[in-house]
Amino acid sequence: MDEIIEFIPLDKLKELQVSRLKGVIERVYQGSDFYQKLFQENNLHPSQITSLEDILRFPLVTRADLRANFPYGFLSVSLEEVVRLHTSTGTTGKPKAIFFTQNDIEASAKLIARSMKLTGARPGDVFQNMMSYGLFTGGLIFHYGAEKLGLLVIPAGTGNTERQIGLMRDFQTTIVHLTPTYALYLADVIEDLGLNPRDDLHLRLAYLGAEPHSEETRARVEEIFGIKAYNSYGLSEMNGPGVAFECPYQQGMHLWEDSFLMEIIDPDTGEPRREGEEGELILTSLNREAMPIIRYRTGDLTYIYPESCPCGRTHRRIARIRGRVDDMFILKGVNVFPSEVERILMGMPEVGRNYQIVLEREKSKDKMRVRVEVEKRFFDGSLPHLRGLEQRIKSKIKSEILITPEIELIEPGSLPRTSGKSRRVIDQRRI
Ligand code: ADP
Ligand code: ZN
Repeated sequence: MDEIIEFIPLDKLKELQVSRLKGVIERVYQGSDFYQKLFQENNLHPSQITSLEDILRFPLVTRADLRANFPYGFLSVSLEEVVRLHTSTGTTGKPKAIFFTQNDIEASAKLIARSMKLTGARPGDVFQNMMSYGLFTGGLIFHYGAEKLGLLVIPAGTGNTERQIGLMRDFQTTIVHLTPTYALYLADVIEDLGLNPRDDLHLRLAYLGAEPHSEETRARVEEIFGIKAYNSYGLSEMNGPGVAFECPYQQGMHLWEDSFLMEIIDPDTGEPRREGEEGELILTSLNREAMPIIRYRTGDLTYIYPESCPCGRTHRRIARIRGRVDDMFILKGVNVFPSEVERILMGMPEVGRNYQIVLEREKSKDKMRVRVEVEKRFFDGSLPHLRGLEQRIKSKIKSEILITPEIELIEPGSLPRTSGKSRRVIDQRRI
C-alpha cells in the first residue's frame, strides 16, 4: 500500500490532500481551544475550506503560540484518546508538548518504515538507534518504524560510546540512526580503540538527522565508515522524524505530501516563494488526530526542487536544511549561517571532525574566532605546517562568506562532544 502512495499520480495526491485537509480542519474546529478561538477571531468556518489554497486564510502558527497554549490548548481530541506525550528537545527555549493517539503513533511509524525501506533497509538488518529515548521523538518514533519494517532494533539511546561500539560489534549492526555530530565523534572513539570503522564493523547505512549538516559532512561520514548516509528530517511538532527523507539519489529529501502540506515563504514578509527559491518551510499536518497544526512556521530554511526525482516518487523534494532562521548570526553586517562555515571546514581534508564558532566583542569591534580541530594525521605540531593551514582556512572563509575570521587550530578531540544536538556557536557579544 505504501509503495503505491509513494508513486501516487499528482492529481490523486491532490485529491487525497484536500480530503485529509478537510478532515483536519473539522477536527481542530471541534476539538482544540486554540483553533476554536482562531476560527472565531478570523471569522472562519470549516465549510469555507474546500481547496488547498484556502488554508492561506489561516494565520501562521508559531512556536510562541504553542508555548502560550501549553499544555493542552492545541489538543484536538479528548484525553481518553491520547496515548503518548513527547516534547521538543528545547533547543530554543521551553519545550513544547506534543500528543499522540494510537493512530498517530501508527501513522508516524508507517512514515519511518516507508523512509527506511526506500533506502534499502529490510528484515535481517540490525538497526541501532543512537537517538535519545526520552521525550525526544527521535528515539521512540524511529524505533516503532524500524520494528514495523521488521528489523532487529537495538534501542541503544545516546551516549556511552564504548558500549555502543561493543553492541555494534557483538550484534553486527548494519544500520545506525544518529546526529551527524555524533557520527564523527563515534568514528574518533572507534579509532582510539585501535579499530577501523570500515573493516571492524558491519555497517552499511546511516540515517543522519536532528540537526543541519553539509554535503561535505555527509561525504566524510560515508568515507570514514564506507557506507551510505541518508539525510532524515523531522520535527516534534509534525510527529517527529519521517517528515522528509532522502532516496538513493541523495538529491534532496522527499517530503511526504500525503501527510504534510508544504509552503515556502519569505521569513520576513510572509510572502510565498516559488519552487526553487529558498525560504522558511511552513507545514500543515494532514494525517494527525491528537494535535494537527495548520500552517506551522518550522523556522527551517530550504527550497523545493522544481524538477521531479529520477526515482519516480511523486512527493516533491526539499533541499538540505540550511539552518533555522534564528541560527543565523550577523557579524559586521554580514548574515552568516553556521552551516556555511561547516561546509568550508568539512571540505578540507586537514580539518578534523569538530569545530566551534566564538563571536566576540573587543572595544566595540566584533570578531569571529573559529576553533578548528586538526585531523589526527596532519597534527604533527610543526609550526610552519600549521600556520599554512591556518592561513588557508582564513582565506577560504574570507572569500566565501566575506568575513575575516581568527583561526585557532587545536588538537583533535579537544572540543566538548555531544551525542545529541550540538551547539556550535558561542556568542559572547552580549555577555
Ligand atoms: P527542537 O525544536 O527543540 O530542536 P526537535 O527535536 O523537534 O526540537 O527538532 C526539530 C528541528 O531539528 C527541526 O525544526 C530542524 O531545525 C532540526 N532538524 C531536524 N532534522 C534535520 C535535518 N535532517 N537537517 C537539518 N535540520 C534538522
Ligand atoms: Zn527520489
